[in-house]
Amino acid sequence: MADDIRLYLFECGIIRIPRYVVNAQDALDEARIDNPTPWYVLTHPRGNVIIDGGNAPQVAVDPVGHWGVLAERSPVIMRPDQAVLPELEGIGVDPASVRWVVQSHLHIDHTGALAVIDRFPNAEVLVTRTDYEVGHNPQTWERAAYCLADYDKPGVPWSLLEDSEDGYDLFGDGTLRCWRTPGHTAGHLSFEVHLPSGAAFILAVDAANTMEHLNETKSPAFAQSIGEATRSVRRLRRLAWRAQATVVPGHDPDVWPSFELAPEYYV
Ligand SMILES: [Zn+2]
Repeated sequence: MADDIRLYLFECGIIRIPRYVVNAQDALDEARIDNPTPWYVLTHPRGNVIIDGGNAPQVAVDPVGHWGVLAERSPVIMRPDQAVLPELEGIGVDPASVRWVVQSHLHIDHTGALAVIDRFPNAEVLVTRTDYEVGHNPQTWERAAYCLADYDKPGVPWSLLEDSEDGYDLFGDGTLRCWRTPGHTAGHLSFEVHLPSGAAFILAVDAANTMEHLNETKSPAFAQSIGEATRSVRRLRRLAWRAQATVVPGHDPDVWPSFELAPEYYV
């Protein structure tokens, strides 16, 4: 296992979604795009971190059975070896070394580690109290975006982040900071990662699905609040400028292939 600080980027397959689901301006555009499903691992001497965790392993086998209507409407293409446990094995990370599962939010394509949380005996799950509450009681319009079977169960070691803890520094050494970026969901978090080389990343996750959203040339079709989403992308641009960081958007089919994906990593 790595005992140094590394950032790994994984792709848990793709979701083939119509463009009108991505951009408000493309409301009549039914053309399908292959949306990557990223997730991340940060290794650290004090314990490893999974950020999100992609899709549950069942999605590789029976997407409609596990996800329901969303997978019926948008084909999900995922191989079994793209699930969190085989991917960790592939980079030599022991599940027992995972200290934190950090959730940007609880949407269906981000809860793959929670689906197998019993395999991480030393992990706590960090999520905002706001999104914990939304995720356990989604409204009708957003219900299809949640898979409660992944996390609404006994024994999940939740650790809830309050709004007052904005900018929470997980290790206390600046390696991983959690910033509130509401809009996509009310309690969404994005992440600022600083690596020993001096390289910095902003993992925007779904606060900026694409570079077009980040730069406001398009606005998201799906958001709990468009106004808050706009304030959040402006915040992300400030944070990226300050840290001279590379922004990793949440689901950008054009930019995603430009990153080094696991088993490669950033140091
Ligand atoms: Zn989402």
